[in-house]
Amino acid sequence: MKFYDPTGETFGIPTYPRRLAPEGLATRRQLRARGLRPNGQDVVAQILWHGRRDPLTRVRPIRAAYLYRIDLAAPVRPMTPGRMRAVAAMMRARRTCPDCHVTYDFVIPTSLGCCPGCADDPAALAA
Ligand SMILES: [Zn+2]
Repeated sequence: MKFYDPTGETFGIPTYPRRLAPEGLATRRQLRARGLRPNGQDVVAQILWHGRRDPLTRVRPIRAAYLYRIDLAAPVRPMTPGRMRAVAAMMRARRTCPDCHVTYDFVIPTSLGCCPGCADDPAALAA
């Protein structure tokens, strides 16, 4: 089995295929679903699998999910008004185009680095 490496000899950290992840470990997303966070612990293992084949390169990328120990996880910090404001400001910044400074209902695509309007028409900036 290609991705079965419980000792980490091949991959550096204990590695499992998707269906064989050990008990007591969870991804960040799974912890979150239980109201937990990793609490500063390091990744203890990973799950590797093949993603969908890239239609251009015909390569099947190797995808990874990092696992944390559930027993070392801690409850998510409760939202305080200060944290709520900080998160709101961060979300607002992510929805604001750095070029035209318009705040949109969607997050500015990091691949473009600006709103689609600015990406389509860079000349409009100079005008
Ligand atoms: Zn823009």
